[in-house]
Amino acid sequence: MTVYDTEVNMRLFIAIGLSDGMRRELAGVSKALKERSSGGRFVPVENMHITLRFLGETDALYDIADAMREACRDIRPFTLALSEYDFFDKAAGGKRTALVTVRGGLNELSILHEALEAALADRGFPRDHKRYVPHITLGRNVEHDELVTAEMKRIPLSAETTVSGITLFESVRVRGRMVYTPLHRERF
Ligand code: ATP
Ligand code: MG
Repeated sequence: MTVYDTEVNMRLFIAIGLSDGMRRELAGVSKALKERSSGGRFVPVENMHITLRFLGETDALYDIADAMREACRDIRPFTLALSEYDFFDKAAGGKRTALVTVRGGLNELSILHEALEAALADRGFPRDHKRYVPHITLGRNVEHDELVTAEMKRIPLSAETTVSGITLFESVRVRGRMVYTPLHRERF
C-alpha cells in the first residue's frame, strides 16, 4: 500500500492589519526609501502589517484559533499610529531591515502580545523570548547611509488605526512573491 504524505503544515503568523490611511502614508515612506537606498527587497504596501507572533510551520490551526480567542477575551479596542522610520541593524552601515515604528496604545499592545504568548504557551507553543518590538517592515537588505536615516526620520507620520481584532495569516511564496491569506480573525 502506498503511504501518502499527510504533512499539512502551513507557515503561519498572527498580525494586526493597517488602515487605508496608514497604507497611504507607508506607500510614501516606501517610495522615499527606494529613491534613497540601494538594493533591498521591498514589501508591497498591501502586504504590510504589524506581526504579533510568528508561528512558523504548524498544522495546529484549532489550538491557535483557540489561543487567539482566549488572548482577546479581556482586550478592548485601542489606537495605534505610525511613529517614525527606523531599522534593525544587521551590520552597522550594512544591509538593514527597514521599518516604521508605531506609537499610541503600546501598553495595550504589549498586554495583548503577552496574553497571546501565554495562551499559545498553554497549548504547547514555546515562548518567543526575544523582546517584542512592534513595527511595520518596509523592506529587507536595504542599504543607505546615516544622512538618509535622518532624512527618512523627518517624514511626518500621523495615520492611525483602531485595533479591534487580530488575524491569523498563512504565508506562501508564489512565484517569488509573498502571499498572505487570512485564515481566522478574532475581534474584540
Ligand atoms: P520573506 O521571508 O520572503 O522575507 P516574509 O518575512 O514577509 O517574507 P514570512 O517569513 O512568512 O514572510 O514571515 C511572515 C511574517 O512573520 C513577517 O511579518 C515576518 O517579519 C514575520 N517573521 C518571520 N519570521 C519571524 C521570526 N523568526 N520571528 C519573528 N517574526 C518573524
Ligand atoms: Mg521572513
